Amino acid sequence: FRAMADGKLLPLIVFSIVFAGVLTTMGRRGESVSQLVLGLNDALMKFVMLLMKVAPLGIFCLVAAQFGQVMGDEAFTEKLGSLAWYMAAVIGGLAVHFFVTLPAILFLFTRRNPYRFIVQMSEAVLTAFSTASSSATLPVSLECAERRAGVSRRSVEFVLPLGATINMDGTALYEAVAAMFIAQGLGIHLGPVEQATIVVTATLAAIGAAGIPQAGLVTMVIVLSAVGLPLGAIGLLFTVDVVLDRFRTAVNVFGDAVGAAVVEKAFRTIGVGRAD
Ligand code: ASP
Repeated sequence: FRAMADGKLLPLIVFSIVFAGVLTTMGRRGESVSQLVLGLNDALMKFVMLLMKVAPLGIFCLVAAQFGQVMGDEAFTEKLGSLAWYMAAVIGGLAVHFFVTLPAILFLFTRRNPYRFIVQMSEAVLTAFSTASSSATLPVSLECAERRAGVSRRSVEFVLPLGATINMDGTALYEAVAAMFIAQGLGIHLGPVEQATIVVTATLAAIGAAGIPQAGLVTMVIVLSAVGLPLGAIGLLFTVDVVLDRFRTAVNVFGDAVGAAVVEKAFRTIGVGRAD
């Protein structure tokens, strides 16, 4: 409770994971607590949605203040320029992950042709890009992975729904870049320990993000507070987040499909029942 009151998110995450794990071992006795937590979650989500209605005004004030402080002239274009670099860094990183790392993992574990796999999953990737939501893309991902890419139903149904909420490599990458951008913009030097903390917290924050538009921006708070960066800087990132969200969601969805193909292979190797 003290961690909650002090806004210390890492201890809260660790506690929640262990607490939820314990609940799963309690059978029926744990059910009422689970229901209470689920109900609280739904209520808080509604509350956040309500707040989001006034968010545009708040964001306008935050961003206008940031740009106002630099008082036009060169500093203004400099700020815009750094924002463009930030976007390029996020999109470049995501592109490397999408076209190099994930295909390499797919090939290494399954010997599938990774670029054919990209084409087979293209409809899901494009849907993710246009909806910016892994959860909304789930039906299309299921269809593409099973029908077009030929991944076994057993693996697809096990991995994709899980992946849509917890496996977000694009979001993790984005959150790490964003934290570094904020630190550099403010001239704060982050040593190896802080950078390692960013890697760990960005991964945890991405796991905690829901598969809905701009959820990653909300969980950024975890990363920034873990290394003591000011939360107000998120306002500046918000201005370009509509664009970046689409790219990272496409990577998230493709990452899930690669996961499904790898798990299918693992099922076959260890001989867990028939593949379908
Ligand atoms: N929009 C992303 C997704 O649904 C989550 C995020 O905001 O990073 O996968």
